[in-house]
Amino acid sequence: MNVVSIMAHQDDEMRCLGAMLKCRARGDHLFFVTLTDGAKGMVQTPAMPASEAGAIRHAEMAALVEAAGATFLNLREPDEFLFDTPAVRMKLIDAIRATGAGLIFTHSPRDYNLDHVMVNRLVRHCAMQSCLPVLPTQSPVLAQHPAVFECEPFGTFDFDPSHYVDITPFFAEKVRLLKFHRSQEEAMQQATGSGLEVICSRLDSYRGDLVGCQWAEGFVPMPGRGTIKPYPVLP
Ligand SMILES: [Zn+2]
Repeated sequence: MNVVSIMAHQDDEMRCLGAMLKCRARGDHLFFVTLTDGAKGMVQTPAMPASEAGAIRHAEMAALVEAAGATFLNLREPDEFLFDTPAVRMKLIDAIRATGAGLIFTHSPRDYNLDHVMVNRLVRHCAMQSCLPVLPTQSPVLAQHPAVFECEPFGTFDFDPSHYVDITPFFAEKVRLLKFHRSQEEAMQQATGSGLEVICSRLDSYRGDLVGCQWAEGFVPMPGRGTIKPYPVLP
């Protein structure tokens, strides 16, 4: 199966990376799609030109993706100004088709960041459209609607997972890969006082504790047409 993370920014995949590595271990192929260029993520160097910031974010994500043996599609919409437009929808439909997605992880509909919320809306619509031949794109129409799972939100929003993935054997690799986001490690330290490892450790340890393992990630199936399957999808 082809497993796809569709997120707003380079580093948002921290909410599903453990589950994706577990998917890879069972033989799945991994893809990472980011909607924005991440150019507003450099809170530690706000004077950096957007083109330079976007290039750094792309390079960091590309290095992570290469180390994971995966494929990266960066749709490069303007960070913090992601809107639902015909052009963005068509780009995302084509990207979903290009990955041959069978399983998608994406943002929760409730989140502190509106780019994240917008990605949730876009995935709900574009995953459906990816199976419909009425909107032709360069990549071929999907034969079947991919399963879609929403990840833990960022920020102070309630989230009650119905599905848990024990990522204990994959947590160390998840952290190793996330360290490719060097600029975001600095940004997080400055903004929150915690780095990516601590941020993931707190949450994944808490989720693991709830289901009796050391580290876990929690998910809910996205409500939508074709998104929920009557058979197990997660590893
Ligand atoms: Zn983000």
